[in-house]
Amino acid sequence: MLAHALLAMVVEGEVVSTTSRWTSDHSRIVTEATVRTPDGDVIVSQLGGKVGTLAMRVFHGDEPLVNGMRVAVTAHADMDTSLRAHLVVDRVKVNAYPLGFVRTGVTEGGKYLFWEGGCVYVTIDSNGTKELPGDTEFAVVEASIDEWNRNTQSCSYFQILVDEREDVEVGTDMKNVIKFRDATWCRPAIADDPQRCYSPDAAGLTTAVYVDDASSDRDGAIVDADIELNGAGDLDGGFAISHMGLTQGVGNCLSDLGNTLTHELGHLQGIEHTCRTRADPPRVDDEGNPVPSCEASLAPAITEATMYNFAECGETKKATLTQDDIDAVCEVYRLADDPGSCERVDESGCGCASSGEMPLPAGLSAVGFAFLVLRRRRGILRP
Ligand SMILES: [Zn+2]
Repeated sequence: MLAHALLAMVVEGEVVSTTSRWTSDHSRIVTEATVRTPDGDVIVSQLGGKVGTLAMRVFHGDEPLVNGMRVAVTAHADMDTSLRAHLVVDRVKVNAYPLGFVRTGVTEGGKYLFWEGGCVYVTIDSNGTKELPGDTEFAVVEASIDEWNRNTQSCSYFQILVDEREDVEVGTDMKNVIKFRDATWCRPAIADDPQRCYSPDAAGLTTAVYVDDASSDRDGAIVDADIELNGAGDLDGGFAISHMGLTQGVGNCLSDLGNTLTHELGHLQGIEHTCRTRADPPRVDDEGNPVPSCEASLAPAITEATMYNFAECGETKKATLTQDDIDAVCEVYRLADDPGSCERVDESGCGCASSGEMPLPAGLSAVGFAFLVLRRRRGILRP
């Protein structure tokens, strides 16, 4: 992290082209964007993008770089494990959106995300976290999952089911992982892609891979979703994963596991935040009404919800769902629409039990997008 700071630079100008590709191990989509600056073109590399009909996006991460956007990008030089150099994007400040830039939904076709099956299986990283004593973390994970399942079962068919624990890493492998990160808040380097670090303000993050193809009846279908939990605090700051106010980790901000994870599990099911930040594009809710700005004075139904965008250090209330959170799942996965099956998404990216549904187009696997959850400012997560 220190090296990053030393090599950091700001690239300011207009994005004139973007190219997205899968990494060689097919675990991530990355985008090379050319920024035209007064001193010439600079190519920067950002996590996320779109290949074919699949898109990967990091929610409350940085704004995706698109053609015509005027930006000031903070980036640093790094190498992949094959020692090739990349200029990695750390932060994106949008100075101006391209004319007519409108995002109407999560997919290009304007669809919201959903799972096709009647359930989603998750795999908990068997390494757990050293920041909670014994196996506490696994009990808290189960409790957070039960909070969703129990509260939505009267109005929704959807269930989160838990597979055997495994030593797992995140990636587009159709395995939905809950991963604790005690040491670094980064996705590790692989053969042709360097380490990708996340916003230090985020206590947790969910990356989902979904079909982004307006012509497909599977548009918006999630095929893979991974949750990462930030416990990478140190004596200078950052998060310590806690339960009931206690932690064995270090950091200046307690991230209550139930509070963070219950929020992330909402994203894993395809649920968005209850208000939008300055970085978010205009959005409408399920009834077509504009989603309010987080800076407006908001009703408690919005600010008290588990899916509210912000939290305070040590906060625990998001471990308990509100009616608004329950309604969201019950709207997307209504009891009356029960598919009556709980198919796993297989390696072709299809979780489709019924006939007539097409697997992902050949040559394309899936696309991901991620949600950051909680933001911290000067050691405090605040609204
Ligand atoms: Zn979130």
